[in-house]
Amino acid sequence: MPCDVVLGGQWGDEGKGKVVDYLAAGARAVVRCQGGANAGHTLVEGDERLALHLVPSGVRHRGCLVVLGSGMVIDPVALLDEIGALDKAGLDVRRRVRVSSAAHVVLPAHRLQDRVEEMRRGAASVGTTGRGIGPAYADKSARTGLQIGVFLLPEPELRSALERALEAKRAVLRPESDLDVAAMVDEIVACRDRIAPLLADTGVLLHDLLDAGHDVILEGAQGVLLDLDHGSYPYVTSSSCTTAGALAGSGLPPQCVRRVYGVVKAYATRVGNGPFPTELEDATGARLREVGREFGTTTGRPRRCGWFDAVAARHAARICGFTELVLTKLDVLDDFETLRIAEAYELDGERIDRYPIDARTQARCQPVWTEIEGWRSSTRACRRAGDLPVAARRYLERLAACTGIRVGHVSVGPDRDSTIPVP
Ligand code: GDP
Repeated sequence: MPCDVVLGGQWGDEGKGKVVDYLAAGARAVVRCQGGANAGHTLVEGDERLALHLVPSGVRHRGCLVVLGSGMVIDPVALLDEIGALDKAGLDVRRRVRVSSAAHVVLPAHRLQDRVEEMRRGAASVGTTGRGIGPAYADKSARTGLQIGVFLLPEPELRSALERALEAKRAVLRPESDLDVAAMVDEIVACRDRIAPLLADTGVLLHDLLDAGHDVILEGAQGVLLDLDHGSYPYVTSSSCTTAGALAGSGLPPQCVRRVYGVVKAYATRVGNGPFPTELEDATGARLREVGREFGTTTGRPRRCGWFDAVAARHAARICGFTELVLTKLDVLDDFETLRIAEAYELDGERIDRYPIDARTQARCQPVWTEIEGWRSSTRACRRAGDLPVAARRYLERLAACTGIRVGHVSVGPDRDSTIPVP
């Protein structure tokens, strides 16, 4: 039963979408397991750029089912918009999308709640994407949420379930905002006939595919360092970004996992607030942002940039059992004279090798650097590991030594064919 898991090994935006697209060539299904439209993948092929928010990245392979698993929270209006745009691009997605009836609904009121709660937090704001993801998961955990299977009910029952849920939100959102519940209900009910045919018991579907010998890819969103349990709480996302989270969000057992790919950039970025020990708030950080085009797919926000953090990567690898790293955006480092990797931290005058579990301690850590000479030449045209400059290969070796995980693939450009296996 071969199932591969692809996870972000840092704070998200590592290029998972592109890696899944590359790996999905032989897969029968790609599954998004957690998160919602707060994720954004960009796929590039020639001049074509596809921005995905809810639909998983196997979408370009026409034989591949694209599954939205039970661990997700889904804004039905946003989902229909995205499917419409993909179909317009000729991808014939409507036929291939399966949405777990157990996934939860993100209501327009959740989006408002997200913004209102961020405002109320003031200086302690998390830096959320404002897409309503956190409030939708909060309602799910409080058992007051709506599973998307509610769209299978007759219209009057759907209508009253929505009215109840939105009236409850109305109370929460006062005084900052007064909801027009009737208009919101009408907007969502209007989606019913287009959402209902997409719904399925995706757990059963995936088990059946694996039993029949098909390959399935589980696609994580965000990154392990933003995980609700193992990240820098409260500066985290509201779901589980680990291997365990991918299994929980798809309904598959651990025995079916073959490989766990940890996708990491050759440097580090973080969006939103929270500790980031290797952050560079100087000209080098600005240069990484500019060369790496580090602005969010979903929000357009500038990403915070820094050098690769091997301490944090070891933490992610240990929790998730990465079998290999996929190192993306190596080309962004092409022109730097000297590169750095944080191989350890210094905390209160002592060297530590473990990533502290709490955000306050993480914020007090200073990186202990190891310096590596840059290669000062373009890697963009490299298509085999042997084409890489010697200094770039040395960088990969050092990174593997610092993290304890082998680099199995390296990526030197946004296109699918610039992903290179490393023997
Ligand atoms: P994801 O959410 O993890 O898939 O990441 P995003 O899509 O938000 O960000 C990754 C960005 O980097 C996208 O714009 C990709 O096209 C781009 N990208 C991915 N791999 C590479 C690479 O190896 N080199 C360069 N220059 N860009 C890349």
